[in-house]
Amino acid sequence: MNSELFPNLFTPLRLGGKEIKNRIMSTGHDTTLPTHGEINDAYLAYQESRARGGVGLIVLQVTGVHETARYTSHSLMATEDSCITGYQKMAEVCHRYGSTVFAQLFHPGREIMETETGLLPVAYSASATPQERFHVMPRELTLELIEEIVKGYADAALRLESAGIDGVEIVASHGYLPSQFLNPKVNQRSDQYGGSMENRFRFLRDVIDRVRGTVGVDFVVGLRISCDELDDNGLPAEEVAAALLALQDKIDYVSVTAGTSASLGGAIHIVPPMTVENAYLATDGKRLKQSLKIPVLVTGRINQPQEAEAMLLRGEADMCGMTRALICDPRMPEKAAQGRTDDIRACIGCNQACIGRFHKGYPISCIQYPESGRELRFGFGDIPRCANPKSITVIGGGPAGMKAASTMALAGHHVSLYEAEGHLGGQVRLAQLIPGRSEFGGLITNLSRELEVANVTVHKNCNVDLELIEEINPDVVIIATGAKPYVPDFERLGEMQVLSAWDILQSKVQTGSNVVIADWRCDWVGIGVAELLARNGCSVRLAVNGLYAGEALPAYTRDHSAAKLQQLGVKVIPYMRLYGCDDDTVYFQHTASKEPVFLEEVNSLILCQGHSSKDDLVEPVSNRLQPYLIGDCLAPRTAEEAVYDGLRVGWEVIDRYK
Ligand code: SF4
Repeated sequence: MNSELFPNLFTPLRLGGKEIKNRIMSTGHDTTLPTHGEINDAYLAYQESRARGGVGLIVLQVTGVHETARYTSHSLMATEDSCITGYQKMAEVCHRYGSTVFAQLFHPGREIMETETGLLPVAYSASATPQERFHVMPRELTLELIEEIVKGYADAALRLESAGIDGVEIVASHGYLPSQFLNPKVNQRSDQYGGSMENRFRFLRDVIDRVRGTVGVDFVVGLRISCDELDDNGLPAEEVAAALLALQDKIDYVSVTAGTSASLGGAIHIVPPMTVENAYLATDGKRLKQSLKIPVLVTGRINQPQEAEAMLLRGEADMCGMTRALICDPRMPEKAAQGRTDDIRACIGCNQACIGRFHKGYPISCIQYPESGRELRFGFGDIPRCANPKSITVIGGGPAGMKAASTMALAGHHVSLYEAEGHLGGQVRLAQLIPGRSEFGGLITNLSRELEVANVTVHKNCNVDLELIEEINPDVVIIATGAKPYVPDFERLGEMQVLSAWDILQSKVQTGSNVVIADWRCDWVGIGVAELLARNGCSVRLAVNGLYAGEALPAYTRDHSAAKLQQLGVKVIPYMRLYGCDDDTVYFQHTASKEPVFLEEVNSLILCQGHSSKDDLVEPVSNRLQPYLIGDCLAPRTAEEAVYDGLRVGWEVIDRYK
């Protein structure tokens, strides 16, 4: 592949004994797809999708090097020879499409998230220093166990090499075990592995030396590290820079990320949400490139090939980690190389279906491209052409209707999409108005392009009723008319101003200066409205029905927002069920104690109470033909379920009329 638009991005790069065909990398990331510690068909298909799309380097998700390294119940393991077959298949799949494939050699130390049994883990670290985020107290590693683990790294590398994997990356990033040895706030040992910088380097040096001494000269050995763990208890940038200077002669490259798994604030950088600037590690990449002689691979919200090309041009990276860009559009490299940049489905940094699903224990996917992680069901994005095209009417131009329409039209059906408003996008148009969430609007841009490419006929400002449906006389009707704000039954005894979240986001009405938000769903709406009003100078109390603000949000998005609410002085009150209001007081019931709670001196009550389906058309249409219901019209949920519904029902129709 080559591209006039991206000359640097499509210039090959040599890492050790291997040449990578371009500068686009999918970094090691958990998928929750593997089972029993092994590579399975679902994970093979997932990585095949990215390899087919033209990525240069695939770094597989972490591989445990020792029994004490199982940090989730879905980790890959390379502690037995039985793992080799799976890695052989993976190497064959990636090489078939010209991609290079590395594995990550991993030990989490005290960073154990969960166990297969549900019991608390027995974790090991450099010292018995508590882990803040998962509340783990580890045991200090004995010298015998250190030796066993170091040997585990080398044995695992040998197995991976024998399977045909092109190289390994030793994971010292995000506060994992090698970083726990490097970090004086974690490592309190008084033996040869603790104390001086030289001693704290010893574990990582031993690991690299042992791996290097075990594998062949062409087998690539790299290092992944956080350039700064960005936490008061984390590894600071100067220590990382010193470690890299000391170790660079032993490794073929360094892959740079940021943050630490050990704290809520530091973990945000593992998968930074949309509130973090794009390509935000570019400056660190440049600094390291200037001080090191080995290639520096950089990641951190590099969502578009244009950003990656600019970083390469400015000398900020030798290769760019574009993991979520590839989850969202596995064909991004191919499209970039062909100059089809408008067709690239850009990641919007929402974190909802990728890392968000991982944190819930489900296989990862993408809010915009639900085919990711579901390749065994939906294939690699090639939709089969139908033999007998049907006339299909989709009512509602939100994410569900847009996805259903483009999916069916790509199969060759004649699809018309009707939207009552003058714009497509439904509630996404509101979501993008939240502070820091304008990028969410990219969902509309991307789906609109899919409609164009698929040749869907779009009618805006068109209210569909039964009469119009009878006139169109379609073969299939899909109803995706969305939802409206839900107003609960509660006591209203006075004249307090009561508004919906939609009123605030659409700037329809001015609130008073003292505001209470009654947040039932605990998602981005309550948090977003609180931030918006606090920024406008209001005193804000956010009364959440759940345990904490943003309970329904992906962890890193939630924690970034929690920091902002705290900085803005928003008071969060948990366990609140809305009961009523009078002139200046809002009444709640504590959902655990059932005690009343009075919030006084309130001017405005904002209802964030979820939505109810707009399904008025369903009954009349059902009397004529059997419509499909999707998105919030079927049941109010999120954009993720809406897009998935669109894809699912699109495929149902394709299968029915193939
Ligand atoms: Fe990007 Fe959101 Fe898709 Fe994750 S779910 S890959 S953040 S668009």
